[in-house]
Order: sequence, then structure tokens, then C-alpha cells
Amino acid sequence: MDVPFLDVRAINARHADELKAAAGRVIDSGWYVLGQELAAFESEFARWCGLPHAVGVGNGLDALSLILRACKSLGRLADGDEVIVPGNTFIASFLAITQSGLVPVAVEPDPSTFNLDPAAIEAAIGPRTRAIMPVHLYGQLADMPAITAVAHRHGLLVIEDAAQAHGATWSGRRAGAFGDAAAFSFFPAKNLGALGDGGAVVTADAELATRVAALRNYGSLEKYRHLYQGVNSRLDEMQAAMLRVKLKYVDADVTRRRAIARRYLASIRHPAIGLPALASEERHAWHLFVVRSAQRDALQAHLLAEGVHAQVHYPEAPHRQPAYAGALPVSLPLTECLHDEVLSLPIGPTLGDEAVEHVIRACMSFRPST
Ligand SMILES: *Cc1c(COP(=O)(O)O)cnc(C)c1O
Repeated sequence: MDVPFLDVRAINARHADELKAAAGRVIDSGWYVLGQELAAFESEFARWCGLPHAVGVGNGLDALSLILRACKSLGRLADGDEVIVPGNTFIASFLAITQSGLVPVAVEPDPSTFNLDPAAIEAAIGPRTRAIMPVHLYGQLADMPAITAVAHRHGLLVIEDAAQAHGATWSGRRAGAFGDAAAFSFFPAKNLGALGDGGAVVTADAELATRVAALRNYGSLEKYRHLYQGVNSRLDEMQAAMLRVKLKYVDADVTRRRAIARRYLASIRHPAIGLPALASEERHAWHLFVVRSAQRDALQAHLLAEGVHAQVHYPEAPHRQPAYAGALPVSLPLTECLHDEVLSLPIGPTLGDEAVEHVIRACMSFRPST
């Protein structure tokens, strides 16, 4: 049996008729950028997040950097200010910070949840610290009540990287609704994926939302009048129309992801495979199901021989990437160890029960070398 890591084609095939009808509507409209589909998606996505404002942008990286640029433009951040960020994240979190003329201060995660540890944040705060960027890694909400409490004590902004966490909640409040603003990605493989690139900024702050809306469109809110030195990063009408269809199904998809995760957690019992910690069911949207093994490469090879396609998120920490060679001279032994040990098992809304059982059997038949 062959178990793909994530079958994006199958995910979209479930809604092929609706997606094709929506695409046809956009084609026939003759209006492809900054139109009614985007406006409708923004209000539907904001409502789904439980927030008053959503601004569609080109991708998740731009969503993060536009929040930071908007904060600078509003005088809330300045060149050289420090942003605390988990060391074990996708490089986009770091790139958004450095692209915006800010300085990432990487901290070690809580090794059981992979998320920011509020005590490590507190220890990293210095005179130039102005913001915290929690990343809800693998889909699990970071400890937002504790993190926002630290931020309030020290007068820091909180910018959530919610690119992996569509559908995670804490007492019914969704990822993205805890910080000053949050960034979502709609890359096709995310929990809510477009059929191309896309992203959104969500916030309860009207001033910030308006500034992001201007900055994504050449710094303009009114044609040919440019208030700020903006960029071009808009969520186009076609992707907005695709996302309006798929938003209706994201909660059901997360429910399926949770059922698969429950099955893995209950059934994978292996001395060489460490299972992810779950603070509570609702807090995890299971974008990725990440196990740990000191023999990660051998486990991945064994699973592949059994037809199970597992992936590594991520093989190297951002501060160790060639892109930042020498520029971020921090030592993060725990982060580096995690990057050597993590392995993501297949999970997704179209993964069937038989495939799930096959993944479990394949894990259980791993014979580590001693
Ligand atoms: C995917 C992702 C991003 C960036 O999103 P893109 O749409 O690919 O630009 C940012 N942060 C995290 C944690 C991600 O997983």
C-alpha cells in the first residue's frame, strides 16, 4: 500500500464542481484583482476567525512582513528593534523579521509541544525587544494566555504566525485572535489551502488593518495616490474565490485530522518513536503529525520501504541555513537536536482509515539498530 504524505489533488477533487463554478464566475466577471471575491472572502475569513478585520495578501510570508512594515509605518516598531521568535520554525518567520529591518532573537522551544516557552521569552527580553512572534508550530496553539501576559508586562507587540494553525482554538477562541495581529498562509498544502499562493492578515485593530491594506497595494487606498512606500502583494480574485469554497470545509477537515491524530496517539507504541504532546484536543489543528526519533533517518527509510511517505519539518534550523551564515551567531542546542530528530507522518483530511492503520503498522515494525 502506498500512503502519500499529503494528497492535495484528492483534497481539491472533493470540491471540484464548486471550485470550477467559482473559477467560471471569476473568469466571466472580467475583474481579477481587488474585487468582490476578495472583499467577500475577507469578511467571511474575518468572521470565521472571530475578528473584525482580514486583509488578503499574496502569501504567508508577505502577511508576516506586512504586519511588521505596518507597525513600523505606524511608529510602533523601528529599525533594529528585536523580535523574539522560536528557533525551530520555518524560515519565513525569520525572513519576515530581517526583511523588515528588524532583528530576530531566536529562543529554544518547549521540547514537548515544540512551541515557544514563556520562561524562555522572559529570559530573552532586552532593552531593544519590542515584539514576540509566536509560531503555532505544526498546528498547535502556543501558550497564548502566558505569552500575552509576558507581552503586557513588558509592553511588547504580539504577532502570531498562524500559517499552520487554521482551526486550532483555546476556549473557543481561534488561532490568530490572541495577538495584536496574525498572519495566515493559504499555500495549497496548509489546512486551508488555495489553488496557488495566498495569505491574510487578521487583526482587531482597525488602524493596523487599514495600513496593511494600503501597504499591500503600493501604499495606496485611493487610485494613484500613494501614502506609503508599499509593495504589490494582493490575494487575487481567483484565489479568493477558491478560498471561499474551501473555507466552508476547513472545520470538518480539522475534525478528520484530529481523529487521525487520536488514532496515531493511541496506537503507535514504540521505544524509538516519541509521540507529540497534546495540551488539549481543541488546541491542535494537526497541520502536521510530528514524531521524534534518535534514529530519524533510519525510521524514514523504513517507512518509505513500507510505502509510507514521511517528511522532515524541517531538516535545518533557520539560524543554521546558508542564508543566515554567520549573521545569527546563536547556539540553540535543543532546536538543533529537534531538527535532527523530527519526522512528520502522513495526515490530512482525505487520508482513509486503511492508510492510517498501514502507517501505524509500518511504525510498529521499525527495528532500530542498536
Ligand atoms: C507556510 C508558512 C509560512 C509562509 O507561508 P507562505 O504562504 O508559504 O509564504 C510562514 N510561517 C510558517 C510557520 C509556515 O508554515
